[in-house]
Amino acid sequence: MLRKAHARNTAKGLLKQLGIQKAPVNLDRIINKLSTTNLKQLQGLNIEVVRQDFQGDLKDVSAILIKEKRKAVIAVNADHTDTRQRFSIAHELGHLILHSNTENLKIEKQFFTRSDSVRSLDELEANEFAAELLMPEELIINDFFKKVIEDEDSVISVLAKKYKVSEAALTYRLINLNLLEP
Ligand SMILES: [Zn+2]
Repeated sequence: MLRKAHARNTAKGLLKQLGIQKAPVNLDRIINKLSTTNLKQLQGLNIEVVRQDFQGDLKDVSAILIKEKRKAVIAVNADHTDTRQRFSIAHELGHLILHSNTENLKIEKQFFTRSDSVRSLDELEANEFAAELLMPEELIINDFFKKVIEDEDSVISVLAKKYKVSEAALTYRLINLNLLEP
């Protein structure tokens, strides 16, 4: 699917521009430097991440992205684990980069569901972007083969810790890269 490939390539290009070559991927660095990249839609944009207590209807929401002309705020559910928060932030960055040309103001409530459930193409793209950003293809393939030789049984837990992602997200990524059987 072309749009999913575009999402992955956008994340790859971003990592390359920012010289990020090791795990765990430093999300703060990416966020701080985004407005200096060649992504025109983000130039001059101030991006802020806040961790918030989500109450009531928002209790199960992972993150909310609010974008105005010169400012974007990603509010993340402070109740969620660090790894889940990282994925949510990366996912919202995907929306910001891939989908923010369309409207000046976009408010999204992102409900965290597993990637195999029915999602809109925008959601799938944001997930592809997040997976590539947090688990860059080249790095994860190298690490996978290194670790799998050392100890096959612990490869998932070791790599999940190294990349600061959930074991579920890592497993899904490895299946997508044909390194694991579904
Ligand atoms: Zn989303």
